[in-house]
Amino acid sequence: MPDIRPAMGSGALVLNATYEPLCVVSVRRAAILVLTAKAVCVADGDGVLHSAFDALPVPSVVRLTRFVRVPYRTHVGLSRRAIFARDGWRCAYCRGPAETIDHVFPRSRGGRHAWENVVAACARCNHTKGDKTPAEMGWRLHAMPTTPKGTAWRVLGHRAPDPRWADWLDLRENELTTTPVAEAA
Ligand SMILES: [Zn+2]
Repeated sequence: MPDIRPAMGSGALVLNATYEPLCVVSVRRAAILVLTAKAVCVADGDGVLHSAFDALPVPSVVRLTRFVRVPYRTHVGLSRRAIFARDGWRCAYCRGPAETIDHVFPRSRGGRHAWENVVAACARCNHTKGDKTPAEMGWRLHAMPTTPKGTAWRVLGHRAPDPRWADWLDLRENELTTTPVAEAA
């Protein structure tokens, strides 16, 4: 195995032979795919990886040389990090930095633990709201919580996208870039 230090970069995007984005792997794993001719590099990252026999640019995007059939995960797992990522790490009520997860309709009153009923919230709003609904508090949600959709979410999950991957992932179809929903004018 080549001596590839894993500290390089965050990861590499893997495309199917058809250029369809599949997943993100470590740079080391992507380099091994290239060295073993299972993939070709289509976009370089920063720096060069050295092996005993070779040197190759750090791969940022690789494309598999043979098509693989992949069963799709149709829904995004409801994890704490995924909720923060969807909501841009901002509180759904005051737009301050989010530290907690709030159930919009409180769990204590039968609110579901589902994408449509969870939002990122700061500790203060969460504590103040307690087991009330936003309507009872006279608060407005910044945006209606929904299930994240699209290729980018399927491939990246809560991972921050590398700008070099933009050509292959439609990053504008959701708020992955953590840009808050446009403030109402
Ligand atoms: Zn808040």
